[in-house]
Amino acid sequence: MSRALILYQLQQVDSQLDEARARLAEIEASLTESPSLRQARAEVAGREKQLRDLQRRQRDLEDTIEDIVAKIKELDDKLYSGKVTNPKELDGYYQEQLQLKARQRQLEDQMLEVMLALETATAQLTEARKRLAEVEADWARDQDRLREEHQRLLEQVEALSGERARIAARVDRLDLAVYEQLRQTRGGRAVAVVERGACSGCRVVLPVTDFQKVKSGQGLVRCGTCGRILVIPPG
Ligand SMILES: [Zn+2]
Repeated sequence: MSRALILYQLQQVDSQLDEARARLAEIEASLTESPSLRQARAEVAGREKQLRDLQRRQRDLEDTIEDIVAKIKELDDKLYSGKVTNPKELDGYYQEQLQLKARQRQLEDQMLEVMLALETATAQLTEARKRLAEVEADWARDQDRLREEHQRLLEQVEALSGERARIAARVDRLDLAVYEQLRQTRGGRAVAVVERGACSGCRVVLPVTDFQKVKSGQGLVRCGTCGRILVIPPG
């Protein structure tokens, strides 16, 4: 086999390796939490916090109302037990009780609002949890598929690497150095097939003499324009 053809084989394996490794990197980036999953989780957390805040507010209101009701009851005792007889003192208690009753009504209105808000917040949390479950299920399905593909690609890369080593062992050391250098500077493609008399790497037509040399398979012929190693594959 000519030097150019061995390099052509190497190029084919390297191109497959490049493709497999690029896809591996892509998959590895996707094997973490997706933005939609993060968003759905944040939504649930936000709704849970909202609900907790409202529940705390409800408890605070309950406690405050309870205190006020107790005070009103105490004042009832003072007002109606007959123990207090001083009219000025009685009037003081009466006024105080009126104020407390007004405050109680106010707080009960607030309590009603909180209870309505709790109802809404509970429904929103249920909705957010449902959405999260859906997103998680989708994500898990994708993850299974990606993990399978990841495993397949790892096996492919291993097989290709072995093949590459076998081919590279047959390549002349200097040819390999030229090849590697071109791979780095020519977007991974060091070898170009001659198609209809032109270099497939840069599409420039070869001079007849170069074409003849490539065809003869003797030595390495490089494209005068892009510098790639030229080859005419058999068949
Ligand atoms: Zn070229």
